[in-house]
Amino acid sequence: MHHFRYAKGQLYCEDVPVSELVSQHGSPLYIYSSKTLVDHYSRLDHALSDLDHLICYAVKANSNLGILNTLAKQGSGYDTVSEGELMRVQSAGGRMDQCVFAGVGKTEQEIEFALRKGIYSFNVESIPELERIDRIAGRLKKIAPISVRVNPNVDAKTHAKITTGTYENKFGIAFEEVEALYARIARMKHLEIKGVQMHIGSQLTQVKPFVDAVRKMLPLIKRLQASHDLKFFSIGGGLGIVYDPALASGTAKWWKSSEAKGILTPETYAQKLVPLLKPLGLRILLEPGRFIAGNAGILVTRVEYVKNTGQKHFVIVDAAMNDLIRPSFYEAFHEIVPLKRKRGKSIATDVVGPICESGDTFCKNRLLPPVKEGDHLALLSAGAYAFTMASNYNTRPMPAEVLVQGAEHVVIRKRQQTRSLFRGESLPEW
Ligand SMILES: *Cc1c(COP(=O)(O)O)cnc(C)c1O
Repeated sequence: MHHFRYAKGQLYCEDVPVSELVSQHGSPLYIYSSKTLVDHYSRLDHALSDLDHLICYAVKANSNLGILNTLAKQGSGYDTVSEGELMRVQSAGGRMDQCVFAGVGKTEQEIEFALRKGIYSFNVESIPELERIDRIAGRLKKIAPISVRVNPNVDAKTHAKITTGTYENKFGIAFEEVEALYARIARMKHLEIKGVQMHIGSQLTQVKPFVDAVRKMLPLIKRLQASHDLKFFSIGGGLGIVYDPALASGTAKWWKSSEAKGILTPETYAQKLVPLLKPLGLRILLEPGRFIAGNAGILVTRVEYVKNTGQKHFVIVDAAMNDLIRPSFYEAFHEIVPLKRKRGKSIATDVVGPICESGDTFCKNRLLPPVKEGDHLALLSAGAYAFTMASNYNTRPMPAEVLVQGAEHVVIRKRQQTRSLFRGESLPEW
């Protein structure tokens, strides 16, 4: 469950009225609930307690130091995709020896950095990358821990931009080539085979693609175990969350009703996967990002104008696609609620940002309560792939981020100063 709910007609994050945070810190504003983060982490951790396992939170979902630190206190590992993310983990107090490093384009500098920091494993995506890691490890007189990302060629049936486990996309090594490759790696001097990895996609709401992919991987892993000393099998991330209240009525009850509607829960996930995985006797790694952070954050925005064209009812807000790109990029749904519960007849509304692109739209023709200039709205489920995908398009400063715990809160990222956005730029001398 998450800890954004109404009390006495006002939206709260845990024990803090959201409106108070907005009057203190301005708009647009990202607000996160640390209880929700910890609940999600613990719930997944608990569901997998029958397995030797490590949750490696996917940093790209939400990489704020405050978020990483909250998870570090739970003992989390991390799935990282850049030198910058590894630096963030370290600065947040996370353990380097619980970091895996994924991604198809690791540079020499990034590989060297990760080797020096002593990460848990590189998740390797190609043969040239293996050769590069071997060479750099040799130069540094180190042995690089590696696992190969296997592409099981299973369709996760999620949005095209976040499907990763079929031969149509750039990720991993084709299933059929893996055994020969491991034999070759065993002969490479500066590499140590630690495990096998897969990740089939994001926002999966059914357990079946996970089960299909694991079932497909099992015989391969058993064959690899016969000739290599594998330590882990990483089954990737991808657990989906509820975005659409049509699937879950009311902000406080979404989790309960999500089970009723058969949306994927950690318990179902574990119930189906643990019996398949346990006999391997390996450590199981998970790389959830969205599941941990997605419902732990909201984006609050101010209504600037209400524009009725006769044809359409537009609510123009001060947040835009540069702050939260998911609706324009993935056609994603975010529930939108007022900070103060409103009475009155709902209106088919387009909530739009100020950017000069038709794509700068948070929702179209959605029935929302009437609002006026100066009111605030909250876009829910904005904890993952939200701030981390923000940009300065239109020279818009990025919002501040606030983390709440109980009745306390702390600014975990200051609002950007507009002038800082072009501080590194210069006028040509000629
Ligand atoms: C993005 C990513 C994840 C996290 O995906 P979620 O859907 O947020 O759980 C995990 N592993 C890899 C390799 C990824 O690229």
